[in-house]
Amino acid sequence: MPARWKKHSRPISRAAFHKRFPDDRACAQFLFEKRWPDGFVCPACGGLRGWELSSKKFTWECAECHRQTSVTAGTVMHRSKLPLTTWFMAAHLVSSHSNGISAMQLQGQLGLGSYKTAWLVLHKLRRAMVAPDRSPLADIVEVDESEVPFRTKDDPIAGGQGRSHIGKMLVIGAVELIDGGKPGRIRLEPLADFTAASITGFVSRTVERGATVVSDGLASYRSLKEHKHIAKVVGTMAAHILLPWIHRVFANFKRWALGTYHGLRKAHLRRYMDEFVFRWNRRRYVRSAFDTLLGLSVGMGHASYRDIVDHRA
Ligand SMILES: [Zn+2]
Repeated sequence: MPARWKKHSRPISRAAFHKRFPDDRACAQFLFEKRWPDGFVCPACGGLRGWELSSKKFTWECAECHRQTSVTAGTVMHRSKLPLTTWFMAAHLVSSHSNGISAMQLQGQLGLGSYKTAWLVLHKLRRAMVAPDRSPLADIVEVDESEVPFRTKDDPIAGGQGRSHIGKMLVIGAVELIDGGKPGRIRLEPLADFTAASITGFVSRTVERGATVVSDGLASYRSLKEHKHIAKVVGTMAAHILLPWIHRVFANFKRWALGTYHGLRKAHLRRYMDEFVFRWNRRRYVRSAFDTLLGLSVGMGHASYRDIVDHRA
């Protein structure tokens, strides 16, 4: 974990968090203000008059078309039986622990009765970490492949020795170079194999067309059609010298996986990667990470009111 993650992340304390969100009512009010910063707007008809139902928790009814809208609609909390405070605290813990948090830790911190519930909460929050609107990496992008060890039942860290792929998974990663060579945003994905299809597939999903891809000399990169390509041929020089940033990302990912999760499980590799990418890309924005985790920025932005008003005008 790079030291700067901590330096830029100044999450509020647990005590301050409790004071801000003491009960479900306070959480619902926060959700209401996120959804309707200028007051209630019906998502169905755009009506501006509505009332809160006493029969249904945190749900508003439109005075014109009578459509009912919950303040949790479109968020990870929707239809959950858990208190909103539990979700809020979970999102707070996940976004403010710079090293991440395991389901076991979350269960303890939240005082949840079951490990399964803690695991499901964490799972849902992790799913929300992939912002659907994220834009592709641009300009100059380092891309490389690596192997990560995974955990099996018998062996805590089944890494294996030498070039064996048993207990190791292929991954591919990209890091955007900004401000004259500093690392910006990253992407990580599991990689099926070294074929041109797998590698160019990753690049076209994650890197903007026309951007420059810097990679090793692997032949598969030569199939890139929509990107400029600089191959740093690895002969006597090691890849971590030629492609320093993506190798730092891989190294951090592996260390983080060991430290936080005591190794990775193959079935969840993609989720772990999403979490790591999320943390890396938002290391300067703890507050917005909290909102994203709860699913608040998905489909319910501040623009909703203005959009509706403009449509009507
Ligand atoms: Zn309505």
